[in-house]
Amino acid sequence: MDTQTDFDCQTCGACCSFSADWPRFSTESDAELDLIPLKYVAADEAGMRCEGNRCSALVGEIRSKTSCAIYAVRPHVCRTCSPGDFECLSAREFFGIGN
Ligand code: SF4
Ligand code: SF4
Repeated sequence: MDTQTDFDCQTCGACCSFSADWPRFSTESDAELDLIPLKYVAADEAGMRCEGNRCSALVGEIRSKTSCAIYAVRPHVCRTCSPGDFECLSAREFFGIGN
């Protein structure tokens, strides 16, 4: 089966709402970080600003229709999370989204 087809991020959003500790900055350059609007950046500037466990850049409703407001410039950790991997499955299970 093709996991890219089976896991539709645009009707999910679970990994973007799973933990405030997750969307942290890591290997980004200063130039890359400068592209992220400050309103989405945490006060300590160590990662994305979250409201509870939900990243402030997540748009829409979990399990229904979601998108990332800064998709083109999102942090590296967000780029490495792949549909069907461990983090994905954990987040989906937390929200009761079937795998
Ligand atoms: S939990 Fe998986 S399917 Fe859902 S948005 Fe994240 S990577 Fe995509
Ligand atoms: S920056 Fe975008 S991809 Fe990363 S956690 Fe926030 S909403 Fe999700």
